[in-house]
Amino acid sequence: MRRLVPLFTMCSFALACIVPAGAVAPPPLTGFTAESSVAERAREAAFDATLDAAHQRAWMQRLAAVPHHVGTAADKANATFIASLYRSWGFDTHIERFSLLYPIPKRRVVELVAPTHVRATLFEPPVAGDPTTAQTGRLPSYNIYSIDGDVTAPIVYVNYGIPADYLMLARHGIDVRGKIVIARYGGAWRGVKPMVAAQHGAVGCIIYSDPADDGYKAGLPYPYGSARNANAVQRGSVLDTSTKPGDPGNDRSLLTSIPVLPLSANDARPLLAALGGSVVPLAWRGAYPFTYRFGDGRARVHLAVASDWTHQPLYDVIATMRGSDLPDEWVIRGNHYDAWVNGAQDPLSGQVAMLEEARGIGALARRGMRPRRTVIFCSWDGEEAGLAGSTAWTTAHEDDLHAHADIYINTDTNARGTIEGDGEPVLGVLFNGVARDVTDPERNVSAYERKRDRQLVDGTVKPADANADIVIPPLGSGTDFDSFSQHVGIPSLDLSYGNEIVWGSYHSDYDTFAAFTRFEDPGFRYGILLAQTGGRMILRTANADLLPYRFTPLATSLAAYVADLDDEITTMRADSAKHALLEQLNAYQIASDPHQPEQSFGDDGVVPPVDLTPLTDAIARLARSAAACDALLDAASPAQFARAASLDALVRSTERALLDPNGLPHRPWRRNEITAPGRYTGYAPKTLPYAREAVEARDWDAAHTGVMTIAAAIDRYTAAVDAVAAALK
Ligand SMILES: [Zn+2]
Repeated sequence: MRRLVPLFTMCSFALACIVPAGAVAPPPLTGFTAESSVAERAREAAFDATLDAAHQRAWMQRLAAVPHHVGTAADKANATFIASLYRSWGFDTHIERFSLLYPIPKRRVVELVAPTHVRATLFEPPVAGDPTTAQTGRLPSYNIYSIDGDVTAPIVYVNYGIPADYLMLARHGIDVRGKIVIARYGGAWRGVKPMVAAQHGAVGCIIYSDPADDGYKAGLPYPYGSARNANAVQRGSVLDTSTKPGDPGNDRSLLTSIPVLPLSANDARPLLAALGGSVVPLAWRGAYPFTYRFGDGRARVHLAVASDWTHQPLYDVIATMRGSDLPDEWVIRGNHYDAWVNGAQDPLSGQVAMLEEARGIGALARRGMRPRRTVIFCSWDGEEAGLAGSTAWTTAHEDDLHAHADIYINTDTNARGTIEGDGEPVLGVLFNGVARDVTDPERNVSAYERKRDRQLVDGTVKPADANADIVIPPLGSGTDFDSFSQHVGIPSLDLSYGNEIVWGSYHSDYDTFAAFTRFEDPGFRYGILLAQTGGRMILRTANADLLPYRFTPLATSLAAYVADLDDEITTMRADSAKHALLEQLNAYQIASDPHQPEQSFGDDGVVPPVDLTPLTDAIARLARSAAACDALLDAASPAQFARAASLDALVRSTERALLDPNGLPHRPWRRNEITAPGRYTGYAPKTLPYAREAVEARDWDAAHTGVMTIAAAIDRYTAAVDAVAAALK
């Protein structure tokens, strides 16, 4: 179904003068009066008219021309070029320099030493038809912040290497103490794998890309498609960012405690083929054409890694356009520009869309449409190492951010696909308004409609909710919103398109301009869509009469998080009871094949009742206050809009109420009581992390304290919402 898109022109008079006869005017945008909403839609139409895919293509080609990881001349040259672009569009631009501990490997060895000898190439060979892949100056394949080490030991296959996999190993009587584990990528963030391996006594960790996950089983490999070819290695950080991102400095506790290296499918193949012992469970089997086995001690591997522990400069490019009416309020937009190698998709696909937004906003300003609030564009360095550039900047400017920042909008990678917007629920109404107003270039329906239909087909949305707002998922970690959202308390949103491609070039030599323009977003049509989406998020926040935030979605999301936690506890209780019975009957052993016996591995105890009513009560109070406040915001009068500066300050303060100055248990840097990256998931979020992670660790006292702490944070938030409502009465 095609949608009629009304044409708006600049008009400062009555609404009727621009609405064609018979057309229905759209409702005013959230945060705008009817009149200012018309002007805003006209600005957005003018913004769209400035966007040109040819710019994105040219900038990506230039910025991705050569490898440009942290510390290279190319990284610095890219910063200088990006700064020159912002300046040319009228932004007050400077480069802020920070320093980062940045180990660069000087020795890497992975070799099978028994029963035969095979040495891994640790090299990604050039691909026919893509000369970029034959360039020199590439950072070797490695996992940054692995400690140095040199170990030779028997090798054990541990599937994804997450805690549940070690329970399965125990059931099969397999102990990894003193061994080197080989884990496949997937299942959790890569940094979790060496951490869990070390907790179980392993002395080394190899992480490889199984063809089942993003390789030939998932799609045609590059250069025939966008899936990972068998020579591609996933580089990446293993810094303990779930505890604290940024420069680890002298804090060795944030490094791994055992050496770790990544392998391609081709390099890992002889290691896995050499494993003896029992056949692994069905779910553990990947896509090599042989039988996967745990390892019986006979296959031995030599793993060595040694790095130069250098310090490298970071160059954050900060470009500011001072607001015309409310210059002390900051709308912040960011995307990193550093890469592991050429980085066309990660991060330049998002970077060039963001640059196009800045160019468009600069063009509007020259035509007298300068944003009302100050807009700050940030091109971050050092993201790949561990969100270093953005974390250094938010740390250096924390007090100013508390005083001035209204929002942080992040992007990173982008490609063909449906809209993804993860973020704080207070931005849900803003996000949905934008998603309904931008058009998917391949289906010609709104990004909202495309996403909603995908969710209906997948069953993640019920037919009864077919016209409801898209619920924005909570933030974990993995890109530059982290310190804004979880340390400083700025409402943040992470935007992208891209789930239609198998993204096998990720962090490899093959993430090139040629690959991106052939397979990932030919014609930069989704690059333009991302610029329209991000640009509207900025413009609607920067130009609103009152900040376009609404509080009800947080109450709704919190209720869902608590229901989910309740389900998790119920499931744990049932599983533990069943497990205790099987242990009592010795059923694991008796039921298993005597030639491949399984063992009992101990009782994990009873799951007691966990009282969640302090949370449900606090959420009920919030829901009442949020509904009342949202109604007042929706009905705000022009006289109230005129007091925007003081009202915005109150609105802004709400998000800070969710922070706990003491931080999460074991992770004091992380202060957000609503969401955090899981300690055993890495990037993926855990909602209500204090209580949920205590439950998962079966620490029932901590679970109770967590419930009370989170309920107190929700009550602080409710009080902040009540203060907004009181100011509106
Ligand atoms: Zn990235």
